[in-house]
Order: sequence, then structure tokens, then C-alpha cells
Amino acid sequence: MKVRPKKSLGQNFLTDKNIIKKITQSSQIKNLNVVEIGSGTGNLTEEIIKNKPKSLLLIEKDFQLCEILKKKIKNKNNIKILNNDILKINFEKILKKDTVIFGNLPYNISTQILLKLIKISVWPPEYFKLILMFQKEVAERILAKYNTANYGRLSIVSNWRLKIIDHFDVSKNCFHPKPKVNSSVVIFEPKVNNSYIIKDIINLEKVTQIFFSNRRKMINKSFKKLFGDNQNINKIIKVDLTNRPSNLKPEDFYRMTEYYESGLNT
Ligand code: SAH
Repeated sequence: MKVRPKKSLGQNFLTDKNIIKKITQSSQIKNLNVVEIGSGTGNLTEEIIKNKPKSLLLIEKDFQLCEILKKKIKNKNNIKILNNDILKINFEKILKKDTVIFGNLPYNISTQILLKLIKISVWPPEYFKLILMFQKEVAERILAKYNTANYGRLSIVSNWRLKIIDHFDVSKNCFHPKPKVNSSVVIFEPKVNNSYIIKDIINLEKVTQIFFSNRRKMINKSFKKLFGDNQNINKIIKVDLTNRPSNLKPEDFYRMTEYYESGLNT
């Protein structure tokens, strides 16, 4: 069956054998549970299967591609295909213990997928590793350190619960059809002992949203908006109000969110 790649589903299939190997070698697979997000025509899937996972769950939205996958994997009872939208999946229900998640992600929803994996309610989650492909520009925002131009909400929110272990670039020539931009694979592990107790990630998103909507301005106005006029609060929280948001470390935002949440209860 011939497939015409659907642009709307971000279908750029990985065809470079070396990169496929490099991705699967980023984690132990043997005897572990594996989930693959957006399996497509199964290029990465086949290499995962060669490495003998205990179980493999493929989540693919495109019905036609699911039919192709079915034929490729035949009737192996440790492999399941879920023809569903990843954004509608309840990870809390489907993830088994000791799972590694792979995904050459559809780029239009890559950050939404990452956020969904961060927002899992029980922490640490059942997955122990994420190996995800993003467009390079998004990977750079995830990896960005403070005091740099790409630093912002995405790196702050990602680094709250995830540790970035490694990353490598992938040329657009490794795909068919060839996308317009280059890509990067980022490898994450969940942080197990988080020293910041943020009750609801929505509040971290809110705090960072308020600060970064005025990216080039001093933080004093945003600070006032969140904490009111009390002059002493910035001394308690220990931030210098003449900074720009990108000068603050991720930990500063976590601390401010903790403080913001404590105010919500009183
Ligand atoms: N892993 C394959 C395909 C990557 S392209 C490879 O490397 O060759 C991204 C894949 O994600 C496509 O197969 C696309 O159909 C699928 N996809 C797009 N949106 C999705 C969604 N919301 N849920 C699940 N899969 C989706």
C-alpha cells in the first residue's frame, strides 16, 4: 500500500538507518516496556522490536498507518497498536512500570505532548526515560539556560520535573518527506526528588506566563501583579526586581510559584 504523507499530521518519516540506531541505543530496551508515540510506517518501531522489549505499545492517530503497522508486526502478542490521538490518551491508565517512551513527534503538537508527559499526576511517573525528537528550534528552547535568548517558559517548566540527560541534532535530510527545518533528539529522565513542591503546574505556567509576556522589561511590574504592593515580599523570595525575566534561574520561578500557591490558600 502506498501512503501519501499527511502534512496536517506532521508526517515526516525517519529514513536514516544510523539515526534510527542511535535513537534506539539511547536506552536499554530488552525486557522493558516501551511506548512509541506516532509510529508512522514503523521505521523506528522495527528497530525497537529487534531489541526485544517486554511489551510495546504503538500510539498512532492515522488509521491507514495503523493498518500498515499491523501488517508489519503480524501477530505478536506483546505488541499493541492504539489508533488514537496521543493528546487524548490517559497516560496514568496505560503506562506500565519501567517504561521507556520513544517518539519522533509530530511537530505541530510536540510541546503539547511534552507538557502532557510532565503533567502526569503521580510523580515520579511510570516512565523512566523519554527519547523524543523535536524540531531543533524547540529543542533549543527546552535546553536553554538562563541569561540566553531562547530561555523561557518551556525550559523552566521542563526542568521542573525532568532532567535532560543528552541531546543530538538530526539533519532534515534524514527524513522523507524532507521537512523545512532540522531536528534534535532530547533524552530526559524524571527528577525523582524534587526539592520544590509546586502543587499545581498550572500555577508555574501562570507565573512564568506573567513574567515572560514582558520579556524585555524589568520584573518589578509583573512581580507586583502577582504579589501585590508589599515591599518585603521580594526580600523573602530573594529576587532582584531590576532583573529581566531571563536573568532569573529556573529555581527562582519555582520558589515564586511555591510562594504564590501559599498565598492562594490563605
Ligand atoms: N515515528 C515515525 C513517524 C514520525 S512522523 C518515523 O520516525 O518514521 C509523526 C507521526 O505521528 C506520524 O505518523 C503521524 O501520523 C503521527 N501523529 C500525528 N499526530 C498524532 C497524534 N495526535 N496522536 C498520535 N499520533 C500522531
